[in-house]
Amino acid sequence: MTYVVTEDCIRCKHMDCVEVCPVDCFYEGENMLVIHPDECIDCGVCEPECPAEAILPDTEPEAEKWLELNKEYSETWPNITAIGDAPADANDWHGVPDKFKLYFSPKPGQGT
Ligand code: SF4
Ligand code: SF4
Repeated sequence: MTYVVTEDCIRCKHMDCVEVCPVDCFYEGENMLVIHPDECIDCGVCEPECPAEAILPDTEPEAEKWLELNKEYSETWPNITAIGDAPADANDWHGVPDKFKLYFSPKPGQGT
């Protein structure tokens, strides 16, 4: 079992999750983060920290379709272990539908 990041993270990227993860298993894309499913120890502490409600356990039906995305991009994007600056308009993107289809970027982020 693991936790996964869903499309709700896209363009929010607050990074509160990164601060609390005990095993540093978040990876940074240009406009979202993902969790490495093989590194996540399933502790659940990141889930309530996410202001965009973008983190789910993979036992949730909604999480299933995001698991492959987390797996794929956690292999190629850089690891992120320290909180950075969220985009200035991050709060405007909470709950916007279809963010993956419209705004997902496969480009890597900076990492830390
Ligand atoms: S706290 Fe939530 S929205 Fe922010 S980077 Fe982490 S998963 Fe994405
Ligand atoms: S569930 Fe725990 S180990 Fe997994 S990503 Fe969240 S904080 Fe890290």
